[in-house]
Amino acid sequence: MATKGFETDEERDRLGRETLAITQEQLLEYMEVKNCGSPCESCGHENWTIPEVNGEPSLLTMSTVRGPAAENWFFWMVCNQCGNTRLNSAGHVWYYLKHKDEPHE
Ligand SMILES: [Zn+2]
Repeated sequence: MATKGFETDEERDRLGRETLAITQEQLLEYMEVKNCGSPCESCGHENWTIPEVNGEPSLLTMSTVRGPAAENWFFWMVCNQCGNTRLNSAGHVWYYLKHKDEPHE
């Protein structure tokens, strides 16, 4: 998948607000549809927690050394057995929720 920068600051702000508005219920739907709860690649258990903050899904940011001003956003889940952690691109979750009801060709 090619990466794409934001056209404008307004677009970046809007996408940020929409991503922050993603609920735990919406994230769980995404995880179900995309089979994100498949067995842990480390220990083989299937017992995951999606951390919450004040009832909303926790969202991590990471910067990149190639563009320190750019942030990458991730939802995350942790294996309750071994602590292995998976990151899910918040942009992918946003895209799914934005387009899931559009007719498929
Ligand atoms: Zn595990």
